[in-house]
Amino acid sequence: MTTDVMTRPAVLILLGPPGAGKGTQARMLEDEFGYVQLSTGDLLRAAVAAGTPAGLAAKAVMEAGQLVSDEIVINILRDRLAEPDCAKGVILDGFPRTTVQAEALDDLLGETGQKINAAISLEVDDAAMVERISGRYTCAGCGEGYHDSFKQPAKAGTCDKCGGTEMKRRADDNAETVASRLEAYHAQTAPLIAYYGGKGVLKSTNAMGGIDDIARDMAAIVTTATS
Ligand SMILES: [Zn+2]
Repeated sequence: MTTDVMTRPAVLILLGPPGAGKGTQARMLEDEFGYVQLSTGDLLRAAVAAGTPAGLAAKAVMEAGQLVSDEIVINILRDRLAEPDCAKGVILDGFPRTTVQAEALDDLLGETGQKINAAISLEVDDAAMVERISGRYTCAGCGEGYHDSFKQPAKAGTCDKCGGTEMKRRADDNAETVASRLEAYHAQTAPLIAYYGGKGVLKSTNAMGGIDDIARDMAAIVTTATS
């Protein structure tokens, strides 16, 4: 491997269902390795705001109420990857979602001699995730977070912080919705898992442990994948 190849920006893909802590882990990787997290939504908004050709194309499509094509997203990503803050590496979140997009991404990276260093899958235990997410509630008064199993207030129904007695739950945090969200995630992600597995870049980490344990795992994976 030449020095030139070694200094190419690292490209990581994070795969994980909602609630697996992907955002938290991405931020820790940003802090530790100087990478930049790129989420599709942020990329689109920034490109539209900057009025780049790809951004203007995306804007026209969105204003027509249509989905932004893979080609436009790839063009926006190409522009973004060339910016100086991405020099150390990027963490892609929310893209690719399909194997067609994964292939387009490989082509894009190939243009500059880059490649995916690792696609890291945050593995969760579905039943435990349902309990974790569906047990959450917050104080309506001050926003303090509680949990049926893991963090009850000292006096049931009364907020420890502000004494408020009105608690609220997000409607989409109920067990059934969480379970079907996980099912949809697995169905959508299975082809990508197979794709990156076939390329030899798939890594998985157990995302059910403590945040610091997961972060340590991820850092080890990234260090190996980029050296
Ligand atoms: Zn409160």
